[in-house]
Amino acid sequence: MEDELIGIKNAALTFILEAIDPKELEETKLQFLGKSGKLTLAIKEISSVPKEKRKEIGMLANEVKQTIEQTIKDQEQVLSKQKKSNLIEKIDVTNPGIKPALGHLHLITQAIDEITQIFEHLGFNRVRYSEVDWDYYAFTALNFPKDHPARDEWETFFIKSQENPKNGKMVLIPHTSSGQIREMERVKPPIRMLNIAKCYRRQSDVSHTPMFHQFEGLVIDKNISITHLKGTLEYFVKSYFGEKRKSRIRPYHFQFTEPSFEVDVSCGVCLGIGCKLCKAGWLEMGGAGMVHPSVLKAGGIDSKEYTGFAFGWGVERVLMMKEDMEIDDLRLLYSNDLRFLEQF
Ligand SMILES: [Zn+2]
Repeated sequence: MEDELIGIKNAALTFILEAIDPKELEETKLQFLGKSGKLTLAIKEISSVPKEKRKEIGMLANEVKQTIEQTIKDQEQVLSKQKKSNLIEKIDVTNPGIKPALGHLHLITQAIDEITQIFEHLGFNRVRYSEVDWDYYAFTALNFPKDHPARDEWETFFIKSQENPKNGKMVLIPHTSSGQIREMERVKPPIRMLNIAKCYRRQSDVSHTPMFHQFEGLVIDKNISITHLKGTLEYFVKSYFGEKRKSRIRPYHFQFTEPSFEVDVSCGVCLGIGCKLCKAGWLEMGGAGMVHPSVLKAGGIDSKEYTGFAFGWGVERVLMMKEDMEIDDLRLLYSNDLRFLEQF
């Protein structure tokens, strides 16, 4: 008899706790406590238990009954709470949800987009060439002599590859200028190319990273002169840095341009007066010049018929030269530190 009562209790509790709605709970209640319920019938049997055990069994039966009743009450409350919270969920569907954390494009990507748009207005055609190229395109065709220091292992990353008799070794491009010959091979003049790519050099300090971006302009057509170069860079400087900034060119030397220039932009802080941040009012932006006749020849273009100009500037560099950019260590751009990136 004891075993039967304990069995009834255990069975009842599993049914009650697994009931998922009030209807199911009510059915369970009837099944055990109803007129012909399992416990009710068992209690009726107690009268046939031998007298000396009857009291003990009676107490046990009572305890089982109380436990079942209490568990039913508890479960009723659990189910009614669940019902309420289900109701709230149904009502609140129009409330704003939890916003997912939204990032933004990286500073360099933003700068590349802006630069592209500016040159698109002048009719430049954005292209992209391989980041791994032959020594021929990176140096030889650009008029670099065999012993030029840029070809040193200390300056350029060479790729382990089979040497090609015409093209030499493979390199991670040290500048976007390798795209000049590629473009001349791809299309005939007139050419207005804007090549933006990752470049690689063995360098790392506050103003240099081993990987950086350059944007290279190349214009080849009949009667192209320094005036076109000056007009183009002035347009870029005003569009990118603002109307107050000015540009100037200084004579310089590069292998692949003749004449060659270093391009400066007036300081955004002192606007050319001269301050602590600049060299007498000017900041260096990068190189430019008229395309060397040997380079045109390497690209299969007749230098008697066509002339051109080219420039190659660092995306990171022009970004840091914006007046409101107070980035004192260029390496921060690639440290993936959200505390830095979220400021822009
Ligand atoms: Zn200044």
